[in-house]
Amino acid sequence: MKGFDTIVMVDWSGGNDTGKTPRADAIWACVARQGRAEEPVYLRNRAQAEDWLVELFEAETRAGNRVLAGFDFPFGYPRGFAQALTGRDDPFAVWAWLEEQIEDTPHASNRFDLAAGINQRFGGKGPFWFNALKRDIEGLPRRKDGYENPFPEKRAAEEATKGAFSCWQLGGTGAVGSQVLMGLPVLSRLRKRFDVAVWPFEPLTGQIAFVEIWPSLTLGAGPLGQIKDAWQVQEVARMVSNIGSDVLARILEVDAPEEGWIFGLGHEADLRHAAAQPPKLTNDCFALPPGVHWTPVRETLDMLRARLSPVTPVSTVPVGAATGRILAHEVMAQRSNPPLPNTAVDGYGFAGGKAAGVHRMPLAEGRAAAGDAPGVVPQGHAVRILTGAALPGGVDTVVLQEDVTLSEGHIAFRGPIKPGANTRRAGEDVQEGAKALEKGIRVGAAEAALLAAIGVREVAVHAPLQVAVLSTGAELVQAGDAAQPGQIFDANRPMLLELIRACGHVPLDMGIVPDDRALLAQRLDLAAGRADLILTSGGASAGDEDHVSALLREAGAMTLWRIAVKPGRPLALGMWAGTPVFGLPGNPVAAMTCAMIFAAPAMARLAGQDWQEPQGFDVPAGFSKRKKAGRTEYLRARIRDGQAEVFGSEGSGRISGLSWAEGFVELPDAAVEITTGTMVRYIPFGSFSM
Ligand code: AMP
Ligand code: MG
Repeated sequence: MKGFDTIVMVDWSGGNDTGKTPRADAIWACVARQGRAEEPVYLRNRAQAEDWLVELFEAETRAGNRVLAGFDFPFGYPRGFAQALTGRDDPFAVWAWLEEQIEDTPHASNRFDLAAGINQRFGGKGPFWFNALKRDIEGLPRRKDGYENPFPEKRAAEEATKGAFSCWQLGGTGAVGSQVLMGLPVLSRLRKRFDVAVWPFEPLTGQIAFVEIWPSLTLGAGPLGQIKDAWQVQEVARMVSNIGSDVLARILEVDAPEEGWIFGLGHEADLRHAAAQPPKLTNDCFALPPGVHWTPVRETLDMLRARLSPVTPVSTVPVGAATGRILAHEVMAQRSNPPLPNTAVDGYGFAGGKAAGVHRMPLAEGRAAAGDAPGVVPQGHAVRILTGAALPGGVDTVVLQEDVTLSEGHIAFRGPIKPGANTRRAGEDVQEGAKALEKGIRVGAAEAALLAAIGVREVAVHAPLQVAVLSTGAELVQAGDAAQPGQIFDANRPMLLELIRACGHVPLDMGIVPDDRALLAQRLDLAAGRADLILTSGGASAGDEDHVSALLREAGAMTLWRIAVKPGRPLALGMWAGTPVFGLPGNPVAAMTCAMIFAAPAMARLAGQDWQEPQGFDVPAGFSKRKKAGRTEYLRARIRDGQAEVFGSEGSGRISGLSWAEGFVELPDAAVEITTGTMVRYIPFGSFSM
């Protein structure tokens, strides 16, 4: 079966759009393509939703895209109902019947009267129940007592799930009955207007497929602070667009010609697996606009930032296991920090501020220490209180013990003291329910402390990014082995492996490959099967022995990025079997420079981190240099006596200079003339591996 280009998921609503302000539980829809979901769309009523769907289907049809559209209400009723209502056991007969009978404006509908009318035909005690209106309706029970249902209470699909509602219940939290009555007429119209096939009643041969979804099948309420319906449609859309075509075919293989079926029911593990998969990078993600020859460093970084996205799966782990990992969702505080108002000092607590002058107060019994449950201090009394103690009732201000004289059960001190002095407000650091951490942050020492303080037990994190490293070149031998004349030791691989580790990712050593295309292709296959990203060095230019670029070009997914940078040769950026490849230059200095400037931020992005911009600062130069316009230059540098000094030779084979240096001096594209004291930009190496 041909797959779907566009996924759209809709969380329907059966209610009316009556309030002045839009309701959170109106209709939410979300579009996803290739595992990437757009922002959820808020549609305040069904008329708006229908217009929006028409527009979407028109645009997608025009673009030749196949669309899978999911709606969160049953497409059919329990067996026997279609026959009893319409004389045919065809679900579409019910669709057509409802389309004709339902009256729907944003502010009112006839659904309760219509349901009562259906009930009257079958004895007036069911199958529909729940009347949300003030007026009683003959034939529509408000409650289940006296209720009689001539049809099965649930469809086979609902029997097979935990917690799915019966479509006969028209109201109450979680009920779906009104959505069916108010949704099917819309779907019926859309079905006639477009080339739609409805699952599982029809073979999905058309341009557009409708499926019935139930987000709660695999999803909970979502992260704290997000609107449940909005979050769910976005997650379902992303999940469904991640499902491979073979799995999709299995999920769609269902026999339920009358009642319909819930998409994915019985395949929850497949759905969860799809949900954990981040979107794949596309094969053309490194393509350059035509005519581009030399790309400045700034633009190169902007392109990488725009084209790369997280590729690592997400899972939920206990906070104790989250250190070193990258947050996949923002984190909301489960508890305020501090949870209660408390004292910041050792001293005496009482109520209110005090004017200038001497104050004498009786001392209450006992004391308040950190960890004590707050007691109550009688009016007009002070209490001994120790740093970190929650303020007892009747205390909102604390005077430092050093400022107090103590005698015969009284304290005396001098005002003025402001109300609230020396105390910490509850939640002054973080309020319960407030956003405490953004997604894309690596959980380090500070984050571990914060997560603990705000009572968070579990967080969603990305799996570590696996980065494969391989060196290419007939001249290379493994460090430690015997080197023949003409051979050199492979210096890039240990350098890159360590750089990856220092950036917080997982390095995979894929060894050395001689200049041989077949061997290289084999090794790339191996690496692509294991890693999220492949870093190669050597062979990346356009020469005879530049097999990395040649192979990637043959694979049809490579672009040589000619970056206006020194040191550096072109970067060969491409995709090998769905895995991005960074082809770095062979010269160790150029390899390390390009790895730090370009590969480090790219790795961060793929790993789910925020875009990392290395932080430099301006310092006076301790050297002189003239430079022509056209390229950004990175000089190996370090700071001594407040000045940037640079390594004597700029030769890009000089590995000793890399070790000598502690950072780069970055010289801009423009021509510059530097003499001692000219301000230059210095970027410490440490700022690349965060
Ligand atoms: P290439 O980019 O393959 O043309 O290599 C450029 C220069 O870098 C040559 O002098 C290579 O010998 C050297 N080179 C390539 N790979 C490495 C490596 N892994 N370690 C040290 N030097 C290398
Ligand atoms: Mg080479």
